[in-house]
Amino acid sequence: MGERAPPARKILVVIMDGLGDLPIPSLEGQTPLEAAATPVFDDWAAQGRCGLVDPIEPGTTVETHAGSAALMGLTGAQAAGLARGPIEAAGAGLDLVAGDIALRCNFATLAGEGDALSVTDRRAGRILEGMDDLAAAVNAIAPHDGITTFLQPLSQHRGVLRMSGPGLSDAVTDTDPWDGSAPQTLRWSRPQRAGDEAAERTAKALNRFLRQAHEVLAVHPLNAQRRARGLPEASGLLTRGAGMVHPLHGLIEALGLRGAVVAGDRTMLGLGAMLGFTPFEHAAFTGLLDTDLDRKVSVAAEALREHDIVWLHLKGTDIAAHDRQPEAKRDYIERVDVALGALESADLVIGVTADHTTDSNTGRHTADPVPALVHVPGGRPDDVKAFGERACQGGGLGRVRASQFLRILLRAGGAPLESSSERDGPPPAPESLTDATR
Ligand SMILES: [Zn+2]
Repeated sequence: MGERAPPARKILVVIMDGLGDLPIPSLEGQTPLEAAATPVFDDWAAQGRCGLVDPIEPGTTVETHAGSAALMGLTGAQAAGLARGPIEAAGAGLDLVAGDIALRCNFATLAGEGDALSVTDRRAGRILEGMDDLAAAVNAIAPHDGITTFLQPLSQHRGVLRMSGPGLSDAVTDTDPWDGSAPQTLRWSRPQRAGDEAAERTAKALNRFLRQAHEVLAVHPLNAQRRARGLPEASGLLTRGAGMVHPLHGLIEALGLRGAVVAGDRTMLGLGAMLGFTPFEHAAFTGLLDTDLDRKVSVAAEALREHDIVWLHLKGTDIAAHDRQPEAKRDYIERVDVALGALESADLVIGVTADHTTDSNTGRHTADPVPALVHVPGGRPDDVKAFGERACQGGGLGRVRASQFLRILLRAGGAPLESSSERDGPPPAPESLTDATR
C-alpha cells in the first residue's frame, strides 16, 4: 500500500434503503419521495447535481447487499456475485476464517422421517423464544469428516450456520424452498454442478448435519412445550445463500481510504466488516421505522472526524415499502430530511441515493433506477431544484451505475483515484461511461 493521501474533503454517502418508488394512487400519483416535504434534500439538490443510479446495471433487480456493495466500492460484477451467508455471518459477529462456508438458515417445522421430510412451516411460526437453547442443542452435534458446524441464532426464526474444515465449497443448492405457502418436500442440498467433488462433499456433510439437527430438535423439550401450546415446532433447519468466506478487496481499500458504516441493519454492518470499514452501531439504531435518526446523524458526523468516507444507512424507507405503507415511507423520508438538517454540511461532499427501488404498491423490489443527488461545496449545479424520481431524471448527473456514482463522489472529494489504484495493485475495474448507456 502506498502512502495514504486523504481526500481534500470528507465524503458522506446516505443510503436510503429502497428509497426509489413508483407512482402511488393514494399520493395522487406521486412517489413517497416526491410527496414528502424535504427542504434539506431540495436545498442540496438545488446547489448540487441530480441523476438516476442503476445499482448494478439497467434492468437488473438487486437485493440490499448487492446494491449497497456497489455503493461501497465493489465493482458491479463483484457486488452481484456476493453470497448472503458470509455477510449475515459477519453481521452476526461470528468468527470467520477464509475457507469457511457461511449459510443463512431458518428454524422450520419439518414433518416425516429419515430422508422423506416435508416443510410444513419454513419459519416455525416465526418463533420468538428459546432459540438460544435450540441452537445449543444443535451445536452439541459432533464434528464429522473433519467438518465442524456452528449455528448462531439471530432474530425470530433466522440464524446463520458456519461450516469449517478443509476443502469445502459454496457451490451447493439451498434446502430452503423459499415459497412458504404450502407443505412441500424438503429438497436436500446437492452440488450446483455435477462432478464437483468439493461441493459433493460439502452437500453431503450439510445434509448429514441437517438430518441430525432434525433428530435433536424433534425431541427437544422446548418443542414438546410448543406442541402443548399449539405452536409449530422448530423441528429442523433450512439453509440458503451458501458462500465461502474470503476477504473482499474494493476501491476504498485500493485508495487507502478510511471508511465507516453507520447502521442498525445487520446486513449492512456485516458488509462493512467484510470491506474493512469501522462499524458505528447503537442500541437505538433499530433498522426499523422507529430508529433514532437524530442520533444516527450525530454519530455519522462523529464518524467523519476520523474517517475519509462514511456510509449512513437508513432502513425505514424499505421497511415501509415492503409493508406497502407509502404514507409511512413518505413520513419517514420527511423525518430523515429534518434530522440531516442538523448536519454541518458546508465543507462536506454528500451523496444521497438508494440500494434499489422498492415499490410501495406491491412491496417488491423493482429494476427501476434510484434517485440520486451529489452536493459538492462550490460545485457546478444543474437545474434540478427538488429531490424526486422525476426531477432527478432531468439532472446533470445523468444516469450512472452505483460504482460510477461512488467514483463521482470520490473525485469530488479529491481522492487520488488513478494514481493510487495504479500504484497499489490491480485497477478497480472501471466501468466506462459508455457502459452506462449501453
Ligand atoms: Zn435494500
